[in-house]
Amino acid sequence: MNKIDKNLKQIKEEALKCQKCSLYKTRTYPVIGEGNHQAKIMFIGEAPGFNEDKTGRPFCGDAGKVLDGLLESVKIKRQEVYIANILKDRPPGNRNPQKEEIEACAPYLERQIEIIKPKIVGTLGNYATAYILERYGLEGEIQGISKIHGKIFNTKTSFGLIKIIPFYHPAVVVYNNNMKEILKEDFLVLKR
Ligand code: URA
Repeated sequence: MNKIDKNLKQIKEEALKCQKCSLYKTRTYPVIGEGNHQAKIMFIGEAPGFNEDKTGRPFCGDAGKVLDGLLESVKIKRQEVYIANILKDRPPGNRNPQKEEIEACAPYLERQIEIIKPKIVGTLGNYATAYILERYGLEGEIQGISKIHGKIFNTKTSFGLIKIIPFYHPAVVVYNNNMKEILKEDFLVLKR
């Protein structure tokens, strides 16, 4: 096992027994992350939903189907990218993440990013976008996702320059199919 795999496995082991916030009490499985350990593109969602909690896999429900379709539309295979969430455990009833839950859980995500060293971080929805922009020194750029979706933000990290690209959360398409075209258009940026 190489160092990257070993370090990601370490995170998995810690998250499986994590009790840093109360979400462990109601989770079935933590959803740690999945995909290519050397991915150039990493997607960050908000938190596991019902299906993710039952399987331990990110974006495996309705929003996941939308994400799969978007990736397909730009000829990127799901196996090429890495997908993780801000929160590893499902908030009961899919309520919004709370500040203390994000503070407890996001260090796992930050370690995942440092290990995988993506060139592009695609944030899905308001929570992931605000968190990642702030974490990487772009707090002045934080606005609602309707204002900044599809924009490219360049920033410096400990492992080099990366691009942060905010997207609407794929779940918006589940509730409003008209949003699909906007997301598809925004995903085109990943092809370039
Ligand atoms: N929504 C998310 O933000 N993440 C998932 O893994 C599934 C749905």
